[in-house]
This record gives sequence, structure tokens and C-alpha cells, in this order.
Amino acid sequence: MATQIELARQGIITAQVQAVAKNESLTEEFVRQMVAEGKVVIPNNTIRNPLSAGIGKGMRTKVNASIGTSSDIVDYDAEIRKAKAAQAAGADTLMELSVGGDLDRVRREIIEAVDLPVGNVPLYQAFCEAARKYGDPNKLDDEMLFDIIEKQCADGMAFMAIHCGINLYTIERLRKQGYRYGGLVSKGGVSMVAWMMKNGRENPLYEQFDRVCAILKKYDVVLSLGNGLRAGAIHDSHDRAMVQELLINCELADLGREMGCQMLVEGPGHMPLDEVESNIRLQKRMSGDAPYYMLGPITTDVAPGYDHITAAIGSAQSSRYGADLICYITPAEHLALPNEQDVIDGVKAAKIAAYIGDMNKYPERGRQRDKEMSKARRDLDWEKQFELALFPDDARAIRASRTPEDEDTCTMCGDFCASRGAGELFKKDLRGDKI
Ligand code: SF4
Repeated sequence: MATQIELARQGIITAQVQAVAKNESLTEEFVRQMVAEGKVVIPNNTIRNPLSAGIGKGMRTKVNASIGTSSDIVDYDAEIRKAKAAQAAGADTLMELSVGGDLDRVRREIIEAVDLPVGNVPLYQAFCEAARKYGDPNKLDDEMLFDIIEKQCADGMAFMAIHCGINLYTIERLRKQGYRYGGLVSKGGVSMVAWMMKNGRENPLYEQFDRVCAILKKYDVVLSLGNGLRAGAIHDSHDRAMVQELLINCELADLGREMGCQMLVEGPGHMPLDEVESNIRLQKRMSGDAPYYMLGPITTDVAPGYDHITAAIGSAQSSRYGADLICYITPAEHLALPNEQDVIDGVKAAKIAAYIGDMNKYPERGRQRDKEMSKARRDLDWEKQFELALFPDDARAIRASRTPEDEDTCTMCGDFCASRGAGELFKKDLRGDKI
């Protein structure tokens, strides 16, 4: 069966393209064209057909939420609650990143629990199973690795983060530069580097890239080129190892699209705010505008407990300059496995960041809602304010928890409500009926 990109190149407008065009208020022909050029991907799976989210040029910036068990905490019901909470809070995609318990069970139950496109990192299960079977993850063999990728595709995955861009040349960059302040922070990345060093072999995902693409193509799954050597500290941002992997991933994005596979490129990680724009411009230029999936970035390393905020600041910037999908970060980042509330807080912070970024990415279509909100605030129209709010229930609950004496105002200023005072003063003179 042909993939979205192959069908788009044949001039066919698929049901997925139609759904994306409708969601984004764009023409079907524009979306088809972008998919055909590989500038937009629609995570899909021919077996499951999840909700259609357009990721890439001209599309609203999307938000991913990641959940999954750890080796310390395995609670299948909690993961399902987290998955549902992420969807309810507004996540556009979900990554199931379990490494503890029965990995087939948790993956299948999560896919069943939500309508969102679900992604994962197949290397996690591959190394877990090799460790269980042989007592050593470095005994993972090629056949086992590719069989696991195929099994996960057959379960309904819509996108997969696969670490194809780590090769012997990338590791050489790491050696020559003298390691890093923050070390390696990608679980899949460090496991693959260990495997390559232990076995003295090239990464099979790089060496047999055509085989990876062939499996994902069979199910129309998006190949997200993983960022295994991403900086995990802002002082490592844009070191040679990270740039080398980005360069290889951009090459592979070209190759994959030529093979008819939908391709995403992944970015960091941790990055100072003033490097975000250049990182995105570099990726877009080197990959021919392949959609870019940014993990925030986290913009300072010193706010554990509030990394949903440090990442939201970076995400607003990355979205503004062209990132197409941003991964949320939760308050538990660097500290613990996120719980349900962490997931909700992370999704909401990322949604706000994506919204702010889009106001600047698409100024021609992104600011009307803010204008309407300003008018509703000026006019003390509380129902309208809730209607326009990104999270109406939260806004309503806060106001209801501290009711004012005068229903027009709020308990912040009460009798000294500036909006009410100014409204009475200037209602006729300045505003009239025009605005
Ligand atoms: S009381 Fe103060 S904060 Fe509340 S609506 Fe009036 S001006 Fe705004």
C-alpha cells in the first residue's frame, strides 16, 4: 500500500489530507503539495488510522506528550490515565516510552485508549528484550531489532523515533571533542553508542537504513530521526557531536523521502535561548524543510521542578522560528517519572508555548483571538473571556474560588477595578461602537 507521501506525489488527495486541511482551515491542494514535497507529515498507520495531525510547513505547531512505565514504576492503569489526560488536555500526538513491565501489553493498551497518533522508540524494547534474553543488551542482534520494529508497526504505531543518525563518525566527533558537561542523555542514544563500542560495529539502523524505511513504509508510519546525541546541558548545545548527528539526520531525511517514507527530524534538548533560531534555520536548510520535532528546548539547567516552564520558553521560541512539533516537558523532568498531574501541566505549558509561537509564525492568522480577549476584558464580559481562554475550565474555577462583591469585577482590585473605571470614563468618547 502506498504511503501518504507517495499518494500525494501521484496527485491523490487522501482522507488524511482532507482531515488536515479541514482542521487547519487550508486548502486540500496546499496540504497535498506540502506532503508531496516532504514538508508536512501526517502520522498514520494503515492498520489503525489514528486522528490526522498535519505536522510541518503551514500547519499549526503541534504538541507531543510522552508517557510510559519505568523500571521502577510499572502501573498500567496509571499510564492509561496519563494517556487519556494528555489527550483531554490537548496533546496532538502521544509517545509511549515504556521500559518497565510487559512492554507489548502497555503499548497495545495505550494505543487502544486514545485516538491520537501514537509514537515510540523501538530501541527501548529491543535493548530490554536483549537484556532479558541474553543477560546483556549489547547482545542485541540485527534480526531481533528489525523484528521488534515490525511488530510495533503492526500494533498501530503512527511514528517512530529511530536513532539512525548515530554512526561511527558521530562517535568519533564525541571522542575528539573530549566528552561533555552533560554527558549523553538519550536512553536509546546511549544504548546504541554502547552497543557500537562493545561490538566494534556500525549502527545497523544507519547501515541498513533502507530496511528501516521499507518496514515503516509498509504501514505508512512516519520515521522520526532520533536525536541520540542531543545536548543534555545548555553548555553542550551545538557541540560537534550534536551538529554531526543533525547533519546526518538531514541527509537521511532526504534519502527516506526519496524512498517514499514520511520523515521527521528530531532536535534537542537543552539549548540557550539565543541559539534556537540558528538551530532551526540550519535544520530547515540542510533537510530541505523536513518537519522538525523539538524537545522543548529546555533553556536553563537550574530550575528542576519547573522544567515545564523552562521548556515552554524555549518552545515558544522554537515554534516561532519554524519547529513543527514540540515535545512537552513536565515539572517532574530530571526528578521522577511524571504522574497524571505532571502530564496535564506539561501539556498545558507546551500548548501555550505553541500558541505564542504560532502568533509570530503566522501573524496574519494568529492574533484575532487575542484581540477579542482584550475587548472582553475591557468590557468585563466574563463569559466571553472563558469562551476565548485556552483552558476555560481552569479560568472559570479560579474565578469561582474567590467571588467578588461586585459581579462585574474580580477580587484582584475589587472597588478599584481599573477596567470598570476606565469603561465608565471613556465608553462614549473613545470607543463608540467601532471597536
Ligand atoms: S478588578 Fe482588577 S484585575 Fe479584576 S477585572 Fe478589574 S481591573 Fe482587572
